[in-house]
Amino acid sequence: MTRAAGDAPLLPGAWLGVLGGGQLGRMFCQAAQALGYRVAVLDPAQTCPAGMVADEHIRAAYDDPAALDRLAQRCAAVTTEFENVPADSLRRLARTRIAAPAGEAVAVAQDRLAEKSYIQAAGVPVAAHAAIGSAADLDACPDTLFPGILKTARFGYDGKGQARVASRDEARQAFGALHGAPCILEALQPLDYEISVVVARDLHGRSVSYPPSRNVHRDGILALSVADGSVPDGIAGQARGHALSLADHLDYHGVLCVEFFVLRDGRVLANEMAPRPHNSGHYTQDGCLVSQFEQQARVMAGLPLGGTEMLRPAAMLNLLGDLWFDAQGRPREPDWAGVLAVPGTRLHLYGKSEARRARKMGHVNILGADAAQLHARIARVSAVLGLSDA
Ligand code: ATP
Ligand code: MG
Repeated sequence: MTRAAGDAPLLPGAWLGVLGGGQLGRMFCQAAQALGYRVAVLDPAQTCPAGMVADEHIRAAYDDPAALDRLAQRCAAVTTEFENVPADSLRRLARTRIAAPAGEAVAVAQDRLAEKSYIQAAGVPVAAHAAIGSAADLDACPDTLFPGILKTARFGYDGKGQARVASRDEARQAFGALHGAPCILEALQPLDYEISVVVARDLHGRSVSYPPSRNVHRDGILALSVADGSVPDGIAGQARGHALSLADHLDYHGVLCVEFFVLRDGRVLANEMAPRPHNSGHYTQDGCLVSQFEQQARVMAGLPLGGTEMLRPAAMLNLLGDLWFDAQGRPREPDWAGVLAVPGTRLHLYGKSEARRARKMGHVNILGADAAQLHARIARVSAVLGLSDA
């Protein structure tokens, strides 16, 4: 269901719904509640980060028709916090309620091949690639795709389900190791750095974009995302334009994050998109006037989109479960007082009771008066946490 241009917004006090109870759902709840909305979360887990703060937690499978109907009965608008939600669940909700984003947009982001096609159709450049459904496809693909990266078309995240392959032979082995799951082979790009852009597009097609953040990964997981104004204007402008074109092309409603590669020759290629707020956009909670999570609530409620301008140069440092263990593997609590003693810091923890290695437990947002002060503070926070090389 879409809204007509003249439709009145959903007023504070109304219920908004979210599929998924992870940290993105939790921060969505908090932002929606700050605007006066009530939130219902659908997640099968007994306890989960969003369920703990939601006004109602419906514990059921994401494709449970009765649970979806209960959510629809409660909430005038529903969103998702993860892309592997069954697209059919969003379609079912959309019969009677606002579902933003639409199941179709989420389905595109679930499949790297469909995603690449959509991105290209929107006029946005991507890395050279080929669909690999069989060993014969590997035999037939051009030499220019090597060295490359073989990625499963579906269910990859944090660098999982992918392998760097120097040659066709290595690609054959890697494809075998993935048990022949449908894949995409991408030519390895000469990366200078990686950025992402978050956009919000409302139910009438109006949209806004945030300044890009530069992403630093460690062991395939986002470690640090920095919005310090250091991306040259030409590149930032291109990336923001591409992300907005993509949202228009998908007739997207909600918050969308697009990851880009900036190549050594200055070209900007889109890598992938997430149909939801993104880890690399967490800096907007403290660095921008309106956060990505508040935009998600505003889109659903039919309220005007908020300002995306930066208040200060900002960065987001991820807190992985590893920090809860000392060098000998003994459990410990990170030095939160030490972190918060660094000026310009704000701590966001997700309420997860069990710390596991590589598990996202929270993040610290760090602000500085200028880029130099920001980087000095990032170094101080990293030192307190024992992340000496951030
Ligand atoms: P995430 O969940 O962290 O976004 P992912 O599993 O979805 O990761 P990608 O974002 O596609 O996978 O790839 C992970 C990382 O691998 C990229 O951030 C980039 O550093 C590197 N990478 C991926 N594709 C290429 C490429 N074609 N050329 C060079 N590097 C690449
Ligand atoms: Mg990625």
